[in-house]
Amino acid sequence: MKIPVNTASHQYEVVIGNDILTSAIDSLCEQLPKVDKIIVFTDQNVWDAGGDYFSENFPLPFEVFVMPPGEECKSFENYKAAHTFLINNQCTRKSLLMAFGGGAVGDLTGFVAATYMRGIPFVQIPTTILAHDSAVGGKTAINHPEGKNLIGAFYQPKAVIYDIHFLSSLSEREVRSGMAEVIKHAMISDEKWLQELMLIDSITNIPSDQLASYLKAGIEVKAKIVAEDETEQSVRKYLNLGHTYGHAIEAAAGYGGLAHGEAVVIGLVYTLLLSERYGKVTREFTKSFLQFAYNNGYPFEAVSKYTFETLESFLVKDKKVEYGDLQFVLLNTIGNPFIQSIEISECREIDLEYRALLMEVCK
Ligand code: NAD
Ligand code: ZN
Repeated sequence: MKIPVNTASHQYEVVIGNDILTSAIDSLCEQLPKVDKIIVFTDQNVWDAGGDYFSENFPLPFEVFVMPPGEECKSFENYKAAHTFLINNQCTRKSLLMAFGGGAVGDLTGFVAATYMRGIPFVQIPTTILAHDSAVGGKTAINHPEGKNLIGAFYQPKAVIYDIHFLSSLSEREVRSGMAEVIKHAMISDEKWLQELMLIDSITNIPSDQLASYLKAGIEVKAKIVAEDETEQSVRKYLNLGHTYGHAIEAAAGYGGLAHGEAVVIGLVYTLLLSERYGKVTREFTKSFLQFAYNNGYPFEAVSKYTFETLESFLVKDKKVEYGDLQFVLLNTIGNPFIQSIEISECREIDLEYRALLMEVCK
């Protein structure tokens, strides 16, 4: 299956399917100008889990740079090491970088590609469910010790090759985390789809064909938004649904405390509570969503570990603060997002409501 992504700056395709690595790389190389070298960036976990399949099925010669796993690869140190690797391998502007891994590898590789010799081509080969989101749309970044994703660029890949074969080695926690962005894509686009997801018994045990169709639907939502607004001036902000409060709790929990998607689902419930005030979302719906997410193992107990004052200190650091107020994505109805600026005092009120609701629902 192919999904076109047409941004203002570039056009490319997402190819998704099972066991497609070889055919997708072959057809990509027919389309791209000749490259002098292929360098694969990956992380230790991804390489341990999928390196054999990758090497057996990748149809061309390549060099591999194996990085520290997950978020650790988005450090300044690793960013420098990655450039050093390219320099030592005499890479030129005609060299092609491959990001083989989850969102962390994708973000790091994209930013290295954006900056090595002022920009070389790169391809995303995502290996997590979450990366159906992060691999599409061209946001690349590394972390600063003061905050996540603060250093980065918009830089589109030449293609995204999503071989869902790689997903089979993901831990249950990573599947749960990744499904958060699928749920988010449903929430901003399609009430029926969200209801279908909420009827699934176990979000971490979806049969692979069904999962592939959800991932395709999620990519289509993202591709449509990115086509309209590549650099987040308007509708692309909708993709941040759940991420304002989510990022605050993710930051409070510190490195390794919460997976990104776990924090996002916690943020989605917060967003629903705000949407009851500013939109037409009902308390009944918020409760049923919370019940569904709680039943599926999203770690809502995290909320009670932090005071609002702790979360507040992270909320105000958010990139989405504009002229002092917090910019939240809210829902008028499911599938119909809008942006609303909210004062910190109201954030505190909703936080209190949230804690009371958790006591009521998550027993
Ligand atoms: P990740 O890349 O850290 O991967 C999660 C963990 O799973 C890591 O330990 C990784 O080594 C391991 N892993 C990855 N694939 C595996 C596989 N197939 N089998 C076994 N283990 C595997 O995290 P993620 O959840 O994919 O992405 C989160 C990152 O993405 C964050 O850094 C976040 O900032 C970024 N992100 C970026 C965007 C964007 O638009 N650029 C959007 C959302 C998130
Ligand atoms: Zn996210």
